[in-house]
Amino acid sequence: MGNVSDKIRKQNVKFIGAHVSAAGGVENAPARAFEIGANAFALFTKNQRQWAAKPLSDQAIREFKENCRKFGFLPQHILPHDSYLINLGSPEPEKLEKSRLAFIDEMARCHQLGLHLLNFHPGSHLKKISVEQCLERIAESINLAHRQVPDVIAVIENTAGQGTNLGNEFGHLARIIELVEDKARVGVCLDTCHLFAAGYDLRSAESCHKTFSEFDQIVGMHYLKAMHLNDSKTDLGSHVDRHQSLGLGMIGWSCFEYISQHADFNHISLILETTDPQLWPGEISQLRMFSCD
Ligand SMILES: [Zn+2]
Ligand SMILES: [Zn+2]
Repeated sequence: MGNVSDKIRKQNVKFIGAHVSAAGGVENAPARAFEIGANAFALFTKNQRQWAAKPLSDQAIREFKENCRKFGFLPQHILPHDSYLINLGSPEPEKLEKSRLAFIDEMARCHQLGLHLLNFHPGSHLKKISVEQCLERIAESINLAHRQVPDVIAVIENTAGQGTNLGNEFGHLARIIELVEDKARVGVCLDTCHLFAAGYDLRSAESCHKTFSEFDQIVGMHYLKAMHLNDSKTDLGSHVDRHQSLGLGMIGWSCFEYISQHADFNHISLILETTDPQLWPGEISQLRMFSCD
C-alpha cells in the first residue's frame, strides 16, 4: 500500500533552481546550478545592463549544451532572461527600434543555445502613450521577433507595476497574448514578489488559490511557462519591486508551500531570484520537502 504515496511523490516532481551567474561565459551556468541542488535554472545570455554583446562563440554554445547534458538540465527547465534596457512598448520610435533589435538578438541567442524560452518584462508607456497603445506595441514586438527567429517562446513576466511598467494586471498579460499571432509561442512567467507588490495576495493557501484562479480565468493556466519564487520586502499593493529571501519577507512560507504542493506548478521551472545566494541550497531543499509532504 506504500506505493500510493510513492505515486503522489513521483507525480509531484518539481523543477526548482535559481537565476545563476553566467560570469566567464554561459557555459559556466549549468555547473553553478548543479552545485546548489537545482534541476532548473535561469541566466542572462549577455550582460543585462548593456545593449551590445559579442555573438556567442561556437565553443561557448557547444560547451553550454554539453554541460546541460552532463548536469541533467533539459531545455524546458532553463529560463533565459533578457536585458533590463529593452522596452518593447516604448513610445519613442528610436528606442522601440533599438529594443526590438536587441530582443530579436536575445531570442536568436536562446535559439543558438538550443533553448525554448525567453523571459522578459513587457514594457513601459512612460506616460507618452495609452496603456492600450503600449500593449499593442509589445504584442507587435513579439510578432516581429517570431518572424525573425524560430521555436523560442516569448515568456512575459508580470511586474510590480513600478513607475509606468505594464504587466502588473492579469488583464495586461491577456491583452498582449490576444494580439500575438502565434499563440503556441507566447507564455507567462509569474513572479510572486511582483504579484504581491501589484496587489495580488499570496499570504495564505486561500489567497493563493484565489490569485491563481483569477490568473486561470483571465489569462489561462496553460500559458504559465515558469514561476519566479521570491518573497517581498514591501507590502501588498506597494508597487515597489524589492525581492527578499523566502520566508523572510511580507509573503511568508505558506505561498511557497502552496506552489510546491500543487500539480499546476509541475513541469515548469520554479526559479529563485532571492537576495542571498548563500541561502539558495536551503531554500531549494525546503521547497522539495514541501513537495514531498
Ligand atoms: Zn524579471
Ligand atoms: Zn522575476
